[in-house]
Amino acid sequence: MRRVSIRTITIAAATAAALTVGNGVANAAGTPGAPGAGDAYFPDYGNGGYDVQHYDIRLRYQPKTGQLSGTTTILAESTQELSRFNLDFALKVSSVQVNNRAATFTTEGDHELVVTPAREIPKGGKLTVVVKYTDIPSEVKVKGLTNWTRTADGALAVNEPESAWWWYPSNDHPTDKATFDVSVLAPDDVQVLSNGTLTDVPTPTIKGWDRWNWRSTKPQATYLTYVAIGKYDIETDTAPDGSPIINAFSDSLGEFDGAARASINRTNEILEAEEKWFGKYPFEARGGVAAPPGSLGFALETQTRPVYDGRFWRRGVNTYVVAHENAHQWFGDAVSVAQWSNIWLNEGFASYAEWLWSEHEGEGTPQELFDFTYASYPADDPFWQVLPGDPGSGKVFDNAVYDRGALTLQALRVQIGDDAFFELLQTWVQEHKYSTGTTDEFIALAEKLSGQQLDSLFKTWLFTAGRPELSATTLAARSKADTDSTPAKPKSWDKIQQVHADLAQLGAA
Ligand SMILES: [Zn+2]
Repeated sequence: MRRVSIRTITIAAATAAALTVGNGVANAAGTPGAPGAGDAYFPDYGNGGYDVQHYDIRLRYQPKTGQLSGTTTILAESTQELSRFNLDFALKVSSVQVNNRAATFTTEGDHELVVTPAREIPKGGKLTVVVKYTDIPSEVKVKGLTNWTRTADGALAVNEPESAWWWYPSNDHPTDKATFDVSVLAPDDVQVLSNGTLTDVPTPTIKGWDRWNWRSTKPQATYLTYVAIGKYDIETDTAPDGSPIINAFSDSLGEFDGAARASINRTNEILEAEEKWFGKYPFEARGGVAAPPGSLGFALETQTRPVYDGRFWRRGVNTYVVAHENAHQWFGDAVSVAQWSNIWLNEGFASYAEWLWSEHEGEGTPQELFDFTYASYPADDPFWQVLPGDPGSGKVFDNAVYDRGALTLQALRVQIGDDAFFELLQTWVQEHKYSTGTTDEFIALAEKLSGQQLDSLFKTWLFTAGRPELSATTLAARSKADTDSTPAKPKSWDKIQQVHADLAQLGAA
């Protein structure tokens, strides 16, 4: 009797709940997660309602057909009571599971995958999301473009701020970092590169196919996660601190091969110089990938191992691009932008690192580069109309973000002195590494460490259109020869300008 009555009550309650909410979900207090992460420039990038801890991306890629099949498992925790949530993804999905139950899904806009779990997720609840998909990503256009680049022998997924949409579903904003496993099955006549370390040697799982397993153990932003597939010569070594150095050179570098190797092979030396300026290198692996010439048109600071278009070496050795992308490991990768409007925190700093590297190489000091840069843009040049501190979503990679960003840092250095300046750079990384930072937080830290009021300096250099007047302190710092006449061109100038022209060309960093 008792048993029966309990059973009856349970069934009655379930029926009532089903009638109330119409979808069979009991206790339906949850609400949908936001379709964006709250970025002012890119409102629908990233999502709300959950926080990802880990991505396990398992892919199979056939270079001959361009077909990509994948299963991505996302481990996350909900930050609200969740009735449904979004992922950023552009490929065709065949199934979604949430916590071991089939979920319903639909698409919205050009890159939103809307997932409704069979059961609501309580706040703080664990989410295991499994997404299966097959598509030809090079043919999937979003806003008229695909950032999955097919090459003669493989493919590249390397871009900023959008690249994940074409190969794995994600919460695509730097504010939600996670660790990654990237496992790719590819024909055994090509190699597969990704971030971090290889967990084992490539394994022949099916006849004619090898599986490559890469792992990133430090929090990593989605846009800094990459895959490069193709015929590569992979060189491995060990850094003095015991971490692996893995460099890869495309078989199609042709006449650029020697200069590419002579530049990328100096990565560890460059990182050791940068450690003196910025503090300990924040990641578990080092290296670089020289991609087929013309495949990207830019380079990107993909975490632990930047990827460079082979054309960077069309005029011979250029270590400035290596210094730039590796400086991003501190500024951009370890400390990422909380909003894309803060992009100068990445590009201004990486450009300033080129000036420091120039001095290290005896090719011009930061002050000489400051003087020449300042003089090379006449006061009426449109360059001075772009505000590095808030360039607008269409000018995130404008030259002003790079050059005027670096000018800002030199003006700051002269104002607060070398000791406070380098303490600031290192403290900034220590306080924000594996997370994000904002321009306001950087200004506050600069004021705290220098004991100076710096609002007007930052307002002038970052947020005011027009060429800033040089302060008395900056004028006093100019090299003697430069004060009376046009500044002399530093030896590093042409190489640095080539790097910036190439980086700005296709709108990546
Ligand atoms: Zn950059």
